[in-house]
Amino acid sequence: MANIYKILQELPNLSFEEIFLLQEKVTKEADFRSKELLKDVENTILACPQCGSKDFIKWCKYKETQRFKCKDCNSTFLPTTGSSVHWLKKPKLFLRFCVSMFSGNVCSLKTQSKEFGISPSTAFEWRHKALIALGQESPIFQGVTEMDDIWFRYSQKGRKGLKYSRKRGRSSHKGDNDFVSKVLMSKERGGELDISLIKIGRLDKSSIEQRLSGKFADTSVLVSDKHPSILSFAKSENLKHETFKSEQHGKKDIHVQTVNNLAASFKADVNHVLRGVSTKYLQNYANWFGVKEKYKGLKDKVKTIIKDCFSNNKAWDMFMNTELLYKDFILKKSKRTYRCPTVRYRKHQNWNFENAKRGTYI
Ligand SMILES: [Zn+2]
Repeated sequence: MANIYKILQELPNLSFEEIFLLQEKVTKEADFRSKELLKDVENTILACPQCGSKDFIKWCKYKETQRFKCKDCNSTFLPTTGSSVHWLKKPKLFLRFCVSMFSGNVCSLKTQSKEFGISPSTAFEWRHKALIALGQESPIFQGVTEMDDIWFRYSQKGRKGLKYSRKRGRSSHKGDNDFVSKVLMSKERGGELDISLIKIGRLDKSSIEQRLSGKFADTSVLVSDKHPSILSFAKSENLKHETFKSEQHGKKDIHVQTVNNLAASFKADVNHVLRGVSTKYLQNYANWFGVKEKYKGLKDKVKTIIKDCFSNNKAWDMFMNTELLYKDFILKKSKRTYRCPTVRYRKHQNWNFENAKRGTYI
């Protein structure tokens, strides 16, 4: 990073023609790098996005991009079919948008829309198209793993048509109640991380099982507080489980401080920088925080995240079905009433709810 600051410092000293020469070279290099990224995405294709068949062949080219044809369903597809870039009119600008999003800190929609000259609603759509693609299944935990739940207030920020106004500030319902969204954070010390929205209301064993059943290797040790649901989950999965009393917290390596520190910065991002987010989109922000932690310190961090994002060929279906997935979650995992659906009509809509369900966290 030190080099780029040196170059930027030198910019005012360059002559008129040198600046234009530099601009030309930089544009060429950026084009070359994005083509390289597309090639990387191409190499990750494992199956046809339409039917999931692994029997596909190369089938001529579309604007220099390799096209493929499925031998089972006869459909043709590109490396980015079904991904976040699918149907986008300005893919190059979207790439720049993603680079800015994943290289810096969490920022508001207003800042992003000003920076790229797009409307706040486009910035919102692009943000969630990119973030929804980063959701993955939980990794396998090998070593000492800390687990704790993070509490967020149930929020319907931005929802149209509600008959009551959205209350800001602290909740009037105190303690653990049906208005608290629970995000479960599991962090292996020096290893994998999983953050997932699993319930609205009291944490229960079945919700933890649905997300984390079979994700702990024989070598792993689970560390948590004495939450009854986590205790019964550990028992049913036959895990080595260490618990602590609150007054012993911090002693003898039996603590959840790593998770607590991460939770504090995640909560600061959501509650202070973004001024609270809707529960509908909370998992997307968890994905954002998760990938930033996962690839922290990696040289090609941003490129790796964008490659992950572009190679998820269920992202388009997931994004288009966000409302239905949210409805499913509210009905199954909470005692809240599902009301006022907001579904925008899109010209190119091709909703595949089953496909979306397969790729999602709920
Ligand atoms: Zn197919």
